[in-house]
Amino acid sequence: MHPRSEEMNFNERTAPLSERKKKKIAAFLEDCRKKAKTSIRECNYPGCNEKAINSHIFQKNGILSSIAKDRHLIAHDIDFYNNHAYTFKRVGINRVFSFDCFCAKHDSELFKAIESVALDDLNFDCYENCLLFVMRGVYNELNSKSEVVRFFKFLIKDESGLFDKTKLMASLMGNMYGKKDVTGYSKAFWDDLSNGTEKFVFRVRRMKRLELCLSSSINYETTDELVDYRMKNSKGMERLAPVFINYFPLKDCSLLLFGYYKSDYDKISGYIDMFFSCDEGLAEVGVTNLILFRCEAWVCSEDFYLKKIKSVENYFDLAANYASKNTNERHLLPLNLFSSDFEKQIKGILGKI
Ligand SMILES: [Zn+2]
Repeated sequence: MHPRSEEMNFNERTAPLSERKKKKIAAFLEDCRKKAKTSIRECNYPGCNEKAINSHIFQKNGILSSIAKDRHLIAHDIDFYNNHAYTFKRVGINRVFSFDCFCAKHDSELFKAIESVALDDLNFDCYENCLLFVMRGVYNELNSKSEVVRFFKFLIKDESGLFDKTKLMASLMGNMYGKKDVTGYSKAFWDDLSNGTEKFVFRVRRMKRLELCLSSSINYETTDELVDYRMKNSKGMERLAPVFINYFPLKDCSLLLFGYYKSDYDKISGYIDMFFSCDEGLAEVGVTNLILFRCEAWVCSEDFYLKKIKSVENYFDLAANYASKNTNERHLLPLNLFSSDFEKQIKGILGKI
C-alpha cells in the first residue's frame, strides 16, 4: 500500500533554503536511504537467522516468464523519498519483482506446493496454495516498511537542525504502526500453516487477461477512518481489516485472488463483492483503481507498457500524487485499464484533479 504524504514528511520547510543547505540536505537524505536499504536482511521464517536470498514474488518460470520479452519486464517504481515521483524501468527477469525474503532452504521448502507443479495444474480451491501465493507479497510490504522505519530512525538522529523533528517523529510513528499491522498478519499466516486454523477467506475470479502482475495488500479502512482506529487501537480495542491482493496472467485469462480475515466479512463485504459478485466491468474499474492508487508492487510486459501506459505516463505521476492526498480511498474513479478508452479516461479525469 502507498505510504501517505504525511508518513513521508521529512523535507518540508517554511523558510526558503540556501543552495548550500539544499545540497547538504539532499546528500544526507541519500546517505540515510542507502544505509536503510543496504542493511543485511535475515530469513523471515520464524526463528531462522540465516541470510535471506533474492526471491521472486511470483514464480519466475511460469508467471513472469509468460509475459517477458527478451527476458525483461517493465517494473514501475514510486520514489516515496522524492515527492512520490513515478518511473517505469526495464528490468531483467532475474531481478524483477523480487526481494530478499527467506533463506535458500526455507524458500524452496515452503513454496514447494505451489512451485513444483505446473501453473495450469495449480488448484486455487486449496486454502494452503492461496495462502502461500499471498505470503511473499505481504513480506515484500513488510520489508519496504522496515526500510522506511530505518530511514526515519537514521534521520531523527541528525542534530544539524535541518529537519523538523516533530514531523519526523510523526512520520516514524505512522510507519511503525504500519509495520506492526503487517507483522500481525504475517503471524496469523504462520499460525494457519502450523495449526490449520484457516483464519482467512480466499476468493478467486478469472478476468480478462492483462499482461500485468500485482501482489500487494491494502487496508479496507480509509485514512479518515484510520484516525479513529489508531485512537481505539492504542487501548488494544481492535485491528485493521487488511485485504491481500494478487492479480496475474494465467493462460488465456488473468486471475484475481483476494484474501481477508473471515471475521471481517460482515464489515467489508460491500467492497469485496464489488470485485467478485458484480459484473466484470465494475471489477475492472476496481482493479484499475488498485493499480493506479493503492498498490505500488506491480510489473507488466513491454507490450502492455507500450500499448497502455507510455502515451499517458505523466498521468501516473498525477495518480500517485492524488493517492497520497486522498483520504477516502474506497471511492472509485471511473477509470478502466481493460477498456480501449483508457487513454481518454485518464486524461479527462486526472487532468482535472
Ligand atoms: Zn530460513
